[in-house]
Amino acid sequence: MTNETKQKTESENTEESKQTIQGDIHQEIKIPDYREIIFSSVVSGPRIREGVQVSQINMCDGRNIFQIIDPKEESSRDKIRMVTGIAMHSYTQKKIVRNPDPNRFEVEKQFHYRDFIFGNIDLYDKEFGVAVEIKAKFLENPKWKVKPFVSHVQQLKDLMAMGNISYGALVYEVIGGGDEPLVQFNYQMDSSEREEQLRILEERATTFLNAKDKKDPALARHVFFNKELRWLCDRIDKRTGEYIWCPYYWKCMSMISKERMSDELYSPEINLIARNVFDNRAKQSGIADTSIEL
Ligand code: SF4
Repeated sequence: MTNETKQKTESENTEESKQTIQGDIHQEIKIPDYREIIFSSVVSGPRIREGVQVSQINMCDGRNIFQIIDPKEESSRDKIRMVTGIAMHSYTQKKIVRNPDPNRFEVEKQFHYRDFIFGNIDLYDKEFGVAVEIKAKFLENPKWKVKPFVSHVQQLKDLMAMGNISYGALVYEVIGGGDEPLVQFNYQMDSSEREEQLRILEERATTFLNAKDKKDPALARHVFFNKELRWLCDRIDKRTGEYIWCPYYWKCMSMISKERMSDELYSPEINLIARNVFDNRAKQSGIADTSIEL
C-alpha cells in the first residue's frame, strides 16, 4: 500500500475526517449526523389550525383529544411512512398538472362548510367532475388485497358533499409489493346523500370542537365499539404477530367504563369480564401496567 493510499484509508475509517478548506488551510471537522437532520426536516411537528379539517375527524376523535392534552410521539417508522406517503402524493400532484393535460386537473381544491369545517381534495378532474383522493398504502405482504379504509371513504364523501360533487375516486398508490401499483375505488352520491353527509359532518365537527375546547376526550366520539375502526384500539400486527395498542388504551377504557357503569346495557359484570380479557391480552403482549381502576 502506498503512503498516500494508507493515509486515505485511515481517514475514511475515522469518525472525524479532514477536509481542505481554501487551498492549504486544514481544519478538522466532525461530520454531522445527517440522519437526525434529515429526519427532523421531513417530519414536521403538529400544525395548529383553527376550526376543523375533515381529515382530523375521520378516525378516532377521542384519540385526537388525548393527543392534544397528553402528546405521545409516534414511532420513527410510522413517521417515515407518513412522510413517504406525503412525498408520493405531492409527486403525483406535481406531475399530473403538467401531463396529460395542464388544464384538466385542479390540485388541492379547497372547500369549507359553515365557516368552521375545512378540507382539500387532492385532485379535481374538471373534465369529468370527479373528486380524487390519493392515499399511499404500504403492503407488507404482496398477497394481501388492497381494500378501502372506512376513514378514507368517509373523508372523500365529506369532501364530495362540501364541494357538491357527485362522483369521487379513491386511488391507492401501493408501496412494497403486489402486481397492482395503483388500485382505484369509485363512489357516487346523489343530492340527498350529499345533504345527509353534510348533516352528519356538521354534527361530528361540532362534537369534536366542543371536546377540543374543553380538552375533554370523554366528550369526543370514540371508536371503542366500532367494528370497522376498532383496530385503532388494539390489533395484532400481521407481519410480526405482536399486539399494537393505542397509546391511550387504558385511560380510554377506564373513561368509557365509568360512563357505561351508569348504563344498564353495560353492567359492572360485563366490565369485569372485559377487564379480564384485556388483562390477558396485556400479559401476552408484555404490557405490565393494567392497574387502572375501572
Ligand atoms: S383506545 Fe380506541 S377508542 Fe380509545 S382513544 Fe384509543 S383508538 Fe380511540
